[in-house]
Amino acid sequence: MLNSIKLILIKLIHEKSESIENLFESIYEFSNYKKPQEWNLFQDQIKTQNENALQVAQCTKIFKNKKDQVNCIVYVKHSGKFVVNIGEKLSPTDIEEGMRVGIDRSKYQIQITLPLKIDPNVTMMTVEEKPEITYKEIGGCKNQILEIKEIVEYPLLYPRRFSLMGIDPPKGALLYGPPGTGKTLVARAVANKTNASFVKINCSELVQKYIGEGARLVRELFNLSKTKFACIMFFDELDAIGGTRFSGASGGENEVQRTMLEIVNQLDGFEKRGNTKVLMATNRPDTIDPALLRPGRLDRKIEFSLPDLSGRVTILKIHSKKMKKEESIRYELIARLCPNSTGADIRSICIEAGMFAIRKRHKIVYEEDFLDSINKVLKNNLKFSYTSRYIKYN
Ligand code: ATP
Repeated sequence: MLNSIKLILIKLIHEKSESIENLFESIYEFSNYKKPQEWNLFQDQIKTQNENALQVAQCTKIFKNKKDQVNCIVYVKHSGKFVVNIGEKLSPTDIEEGMRVGIDRSKYQIQITLPLKIDPNVTMMTVEEKPEITYKEIGGCKNQILEIKEIVEYPLLYPRRFSLMGIDPPKGALLYGPPGTGKTLVARAVANKTNASFVKINCSELVQKYIGEGARLVRELFNLSKTKFACIMFFDELDAIGGTRFSGASGGENEVQRTMLEIVNQLDGFEKRGNTKVLMATNRPDTIDPALLRPGRLDRKIEFSLPDLSGRVTILKIHSKKMKKEESIRYELIARLCPNSTGADIRSICIEAGMFAIRKRHKIVYEEDFLDSINKVLKNNLKFSYTSRYIKYN
């Protein structure tokens, strides 16, 4: 196309023609397009109607025949296997074994290559190419971040350290602790540091109506992770499917257990030195099936507890960073006034302080607004927070 345009321009410059007819003449001459007088719309319509749709097949083997031509064995569902040629538009290097391809219905020649079949439910699960959270935006959680770095960051960024030492890095970790203590936040931050894609799977989405559907979704998720350069799979709310197995379970529970067993299978199947790491999070580690937790699957269990005083001060500073506020706010005092609060509670305290300032028509947030907000949030927490129940496993 570019060449044709070049030729047209050269001709126009050469002939110094300026009329628009000449320009069109040159375009038709050098391109493959026909002039409007030569168009046969009716025939074109019949041609497109008669064109058959391609059939989907899977290329199972590629081999060279005696004439040194490349042939493929393709498997067509419900029809069987066929030895076929590769169409003119494709070169043999375009096709790989195991790939999905489109074949025509007459000669069964391979016409196009197709992308990996991944359930739309799976692609809809959040795949963030690179989350924007960094370690700086997490308050406290120092030990937790260190452990996650060892499990996820170092094996992905410096795999040689592990091969030189002769050890396999862990495949993944279980993050547990009360709600709102920063489990998701840390997982996203490590994905940011490693430039890995972040697939967040809400385990309740894996609970499906039909038998085998949940397990199929799990398989496709792991297939999706293989298409990424580096991938962190984060299974949130693991208790939805990872509960301990027990005899006499009803049909629905059996299906949930099957989904969990598929995760166990997949964890066994992928390489420790590969570029996929699995993180799982739960608020109730005591209910999780021991099969998932045994070393070799989820090797590390990382506890996220309530932040200590210095953690609370940092979280307060992080969440009030963008707020317009008076200079002399005593963060330590505020942090002391909200013991047993989670990171999410502290974020809520900052938001409420801003709301108090708006209500009082202040232009900036004062310390007094923070104190009012603590009163409000902690009072609400007394009624609704179940944090203490989640720390029972200690
Ligand atoms: P759940 O178990 O309910 O999924 P979680 O532990 O995954 O909770 P997050 O989603 O990580 O909790 O945190 C919820 C919100 O609380 C975050 O968006 C963040 O704003 C705030 N938060 C929690 N912990 C921290 C922290 N350590 N530093 C800064 N912000 C935090």
